[in-house]
Amino acid sequence: MVKELGVAYHGNVYLDHARADFREMQEHGCNSVILAMSEYDYDQWRGQYFKMAKIAKDEFNFTVYINFWAWGRVFGGEPPSIFLNNNVAFRQIFSKTQQAFPAACFNTKAFRSYIKRAIRKVARVREIDGFFWDEPHYAYSELNLLPEDLSPYYVCNCDVCQNLFFQRYQYKMPDKENDDVFKFKEEQLLDFLQDICRTVKKIDLTKKNIICVMPSHATTGLSDWNRVCFDEMDVLATDPYWIVYQKDLHWVREEAKKLVRVARTNRKEAQLWVLAFSIPANRESEIETVVEIFDTSGADSIYAWLYRGGLQTFLKSQNPPLVWKTLGEAFQKIKKRKKN
Ligand SMILES: [Zn+2]
Repeated sequence: MVKELGVAYHGNVYLDHARADFREMQEHGCNSVILAMSEYDYDQWRGQYFKMAKIAKDEFNFTVYINFWAWGRVFGGEPPSIFLNNNVAFRQIFSKTQQAFPAACFNTKAFRSYIKRAIRKVARVREIDGFFWDEPHYAYSELNLLPEDLSPYYVCNCDVCQNLFFQRYQYKMPDKENDDVFKFKEEQLLDFLQDICRTVKKIDLTKKNIICVMPSHATTGLSDWNRVCFDEMDVLATDPYWIVYQKDLHWVREEAKKLVRVARTNRKEAQLWVLAFSIPANRESEIETVVEIFDTSGADSIYAWLYRGGLQTFLKSQNPPLVWKTLGEAFQKIKKRKKN
């Protein structure tokens, strides 16, 4: 049974506006919000984010999560990274060309200390219920926006990764990806995720860690979702954005089923994301179908990216008000069903 319905929210730090927007979310059936906080947001006005969390929690009774939105560009999203700007030396390296890609290498001590320092601060905020770790990945390409097949080459082949690889396998990390490199990369990504989730739990055991894995077809360094379900994480999520990946609703159903199955096997909660940005005109009704699919799949939480159909962003739908209305109606339907 779905307990949580919510949307991601960003682009505002004014509390009166936030209050009005949370009310609008509530009218659209939401009882939860994810505040997407980029490195710049954290740097400039994290105090406002914490106050928005308090408003969402105390005045609207929402569960509130913080998304470290595109931090180091190793999590999903478009915002630039202050860490990358200030640390050219710690970028991920493409094995074919030794070119630096725009993503921080999460095997470097510098990036780990940087993000963990911020996590400790955020984890002390009472009103925040948890952390949303979105689409953790190795750099996709020199643009690092959407998954691309780089085989037989790979990232990351930086000095830090080369040294770690050598210590483990006793030979030089090759330029082309072999089984050892594949395994090494997956283990390192899991180690990073476990490290940050543990950092959260050390501050406050009650805070949840949600990890959102990319859909199955995407090559992101995580081949087996079961392995993400370690002790320190609580909720397994995925975002089968059918229009982005040019897939159909049958595929959405299969991904949803798989997600819930893996989450249940590992005694974790299951969260599914519905696409509510970049929706072409006349395809808005698919949102309602997908929300239905998620509900029948047994998800605990259904979330949508983004508030108001992405109205304020370059990723906006063709008809954002209709996307938002359709999502609201789909959420309200679930709420009604829960009551009966
Ligand atoms: Zn590296």
